[in-house]
Amino acid sequence: MDSQAVRSGMVERLRAQGGMEPAVLEAMLRVPRHLFLEPGLAAQAYLDNALPIGHGQTISKPSVVARAASVLLQALGGRPSKILEIGTGCGYQAAVLAGVAGEVYSIERIRALHELARRNLRALRLANLRLLFGDGMAGAGIGAPFDAVISAAAAEHAPAAWLEQLRPGGVLVAPLGQPQRLTAMRKLAAGRFETWSVEDARFVPLKSGIL
Ligand code: SAH
Repeated sequence: MDSQAVRSGMVERLRAQGGMEPAVLEAMLRVPRHLFLEPGLAAQAYLDNALPIGHGQTISKPSVVARAASVLLQALGGRPSKILEIGTGCGYQAAVLAGVAGEVYSIERIRALHELARRNLRALRLANLRLLFGDGMAGAGIGAPFDAVISAAAAEHAPAAWLEQLRPGGVLVAPLGQPQRLTAMRKLAAGRFETWSVEDARFVPLKSGIL
């Protein structure tokens, strides 16, 4: 497969959806999504699909990764210096985020997926990406405060730790509520938040504890 040509096609379809940040699209042009999938699914890597990665979890659709990352950059008004991602999964979104931020911390609660992501990401040599194993409901044990927290798993409400670990002016982007909506929250002064709803969402659930 000439993956660069197929990947450009995917990125052009994302650009055509409108409202995507150029820096995010450039990062998606560089990250080989097929390397994050089992060989049997690699041929579908550049379609706009969520696909299984094992352990009942999925790799997010490219359009969902592009939208969430774009909302985050737009809300911050520029390049984030430090992002926390909740739900590493296979590591694809973490690699995209590492292309648009100074530093990325990504936490996963399923050890086998944490290790899968480590293997998938090794060849990309992203020196600014740190993979953490643990329950991301409590945020990250290191790295806080963050400019942004982005979750790939859906919750009814944002866990308090995510909001606490944001710097003032920082932004959370996460699927929240029932039915799920991709939601953005900006931390204002005095513990207040500005919240807005982006679009309908269908993410796997946020779960507590580690496996
Ligand atoms: N970011 C991935 C998406 C993975 S799906 C991508 O690039 O496609 C969401 C992931 O969130 C799953 O791997 C799931 O195990 C993980 N998850 C769910 N609850 C979690 C929690 N409390 N802490 C950390 N990870 C969690």
